Amino acid sequence: MTGFRALPSVDQLLTGLPALVEAHGRQAVTRHARLRLDAARAAIRDGAEGAAEAARLPHLLAADLAAAAVTGLRPILNLTGTVLHTNLGRAILAEEAIAAAKAAMAAPLALEFDLRTGGRGQRDDHLRGLLCELTGAEDATIVNNNAAAVLIALNTFGQGRDSIVSRGELIEIGGAFRMPDIMARAGTRLVEVGTTNRTHPRDYQDAISGETGVILKVHTSNYRIEGFTAEVPAPDLAAIARKTGVVMLNDLGAGSLVDLSRWGLRREPTVAEAVAEGADLVTFSGDKLLGGPQAGFVLGRRDLIARINRNPMKRAVRLDKIRIAALEATLRLYRDPDRLEDRLPVLRMLARPQAHIAAQAARLAPQVAALLPGYRVTATDCASQIGSGSLPTDTIPSAGLRITGQGGDAPDRLAAMLRDRDRPVIGRIHDGALILDLRCLDRDADLLEALA
Ligand SMILES: *Cc1c(COP(=O)(O)O)cnc(C)c1O
Repeated sequence: MTGFRALPSVDQLLTGLPALVEAHGRQAVTRHARLRLDAARAAIRDGAEGAAEAARLPHLLAADLAAAAVTGLRPILNLTGTVLHTNLGRAILAEEAIAAAKAAMAAPLALEFDLRTGGRGQRDDHLRGLLCELTGAEDATIVNNNAAAVLIALNTFGQGRDSIVSRGELIEIGGAFRMPDIMARAGTRLVEVGTTNRTHPRDYQDAISGETGVILKVHTSNYRIEGFTAEVPAPDLAAIARKTGVVMLNDLGAGSLVDLSRWGLRREPTVAEAVAEGADLVTFSGDKLLGGPQAGFVLGRRDLIARINRNPMKRAVRLDKIRIAALEATLRLYRDPDRLEDRLPVLRMLARPQAHIAAQAARLAPQVAALLPGYRVTATDCASQIGSGSLPTDTIPSAGLRITGQGGDAPDRLAAMLRDRDRPVIGRIHDGALILDLRCLDRDADLLEALA
């Protein structure tokens, strides 16, 4: 038992470590000290020497507390080449949106309060006008994310009724969002029509009955069916829905408010176009191409939006003041499309010319090589993706650094080392090398500091 006697008490340990107590607080140091003392006693029971265990305690305790003090939510460098990376938080926000969110966090604001009349207001009012102005929609409601937008729309108009979807559009997107499951939870009966590759107007017409609540069209943004294919265009579906009195819902997914071909990206239908095509309701995300915080929008007919707002589910999926403020500031930027590229980070990154990124790669390659002894660093062409299921078959020509080292596991070892930095650097492993796509690196210094 002499071994145990070499160990200090918790109090003795804390008294000897005033700097740790000062830095981390008495409670945290006490908690970690108990854990370490338990471990030391177990080691001594297994034959370790008491004095040696005691001597290691201050060092181990300091390391534990330092590790516990590091947040997993610290900023990273997204050099994966996927601009809207769901696992890395999707869109980063415009300065204007960050300032608005910060102000909303720091002081009360007229969230549901009408400053003119002093009466009650509605939180969505801050966004409705802007959304209608930018898209031509009659009305809008705003919820937690696009999954919630689809869920509440299906529940409002499809509960206990049929919802008709083409077999070519029964999508799964990452994170277990599968359209058939969402429909089940919305309480609507899924009626599949057509085939995987071809669906015709008569398929929808034949499926419509007195039980039909919704015709759902889903933008198959994360895959593409090619070859012998046919889908029913939204205007035709809208006409079928109108004639039969059911609600036509067009889930756009990424939904851009501007025509991206202006910035050299592939043309995708805009939200305004989807609204003009006659859909009763259009849903899309706030943190995909829009470039704002996580949110979901349902735009469309005023009478239908009013019914969604009366659904008790709305309260469960509504937005908080911080995101409403950030969204409002983000949407305002769209009033000036000419300056959008300078102000909206998502668009700035997507629109960066390849030559610009290639010059950055050439400039950074020798500097990065100097910081990674034992590795070979060369500038390389590569291909970025928009991400979040947006235009997945389209890549954007980009450039970056190709890093190789000794041994087959060199890229994995390097990737692990870079994840462990104060500011983790996340690349992608491809063809025996770690690729750092520089599309999303605004400042060279950020990478050099992270690696130093
Ligand atoms: C991304 C996406 C969703 C889900 O949107 P979240 O904002 O991630 O909830 C739904 N439908 C489609 C077609 C999508 O692309």
